[in-house]
Amino acid sequence: MMTAPLIGVLDVQGAVTEHIDAMHACGVDVRRVRLARDFDGIDGLIIPGGESTTLCKLLTIFDMWNPMAKLLSEGLPVYGSCAGMILLAKEVLDTRADARSFGTMNMTVRRNAFGRQVDSFETDLPIAAVGDEPFRAVFIRAPWVEEVGEGVDVLCSVTDAQGRTNPVAVRQGAALATSFHPELVADRRFHQYFLSIVQGTA
Ligand code: GLN
Repeated sequence: MMTAPLIGVLDVQGAVTEHIDAMHACGVDVRRVRLARDFDGIDGLIIPGGESTTLCKLLTIFDMWNPMAKLLSEGLPVYGSCAGMILLAKEVLDTRADARSFGTMNMTVRRNAFGRQVDSFETDLPIAAVGDEPFRAVFIRAPWVEEVGEGVDVLCSVTDAQGRTNPVAVRQGAALATSFHPELVADRRFHQYFLSIVQGTA
C-alpha cells in the first residue's frame, strides 16, 4: 500500500488554513509551503484562493516562481482554487499587464468574470467526478474558464444571469482547478478527489 502522500499548501497569501484543515480531514500529511525548499518531497500542491496578482508578485519576490514552474512542468499534481486556477492557466484575461501565470493547463481564464452584482454567490453544482450528490460551490470574485484547449476535461459549468455558460471546474491530467472554494464547505469530496489524483486512482 502506498504511504500517505504529503500535500503542500502554498502559504504566501490567501485561504491557506481552510485547505490544510480539509486535507487533514482526508487523513493526509500537510506542509505549509512558504519557501522554495518547502517544495522538496511533496506529492501534490494546492494553490489557494486569494489575489492572483499578489500571489504572482510574492512568488517572484520570494524566489519561488522558478522552482514551482519547474515542478509543475514536470507534472507535480496540483490543485488551484479561484486565484489558484488563474495561476495555472495558459492565458489570463482581465488581469494586470505585468501578471504572469504558469500555463500548466491549456485554458484561457477570465478574472473576476461574474461581475460586480454577483461578486460572491453560492450554488449547488452537479459534479459527476465527485459523486451523485450536488456540491455546494462558493464563488468569491471568481474567475471562469473562457476557453479550453486540447487535453482539458470540463468537470462542471455554470450559467450566469446573462445566460452565458462557462466551465468552473476543470482537469488536465494531474492538474485540477476550480473557480469556487471547496475548502469553505464541510463537504470534503473535492479534496478527496484531488487526493485520488495524487494517488493515481482517479
Ligand atoms: N479575484 C481574485 C483574483 O483575481 C480571485 C478571488 C479568489 O481567489 N477568491 O485573483
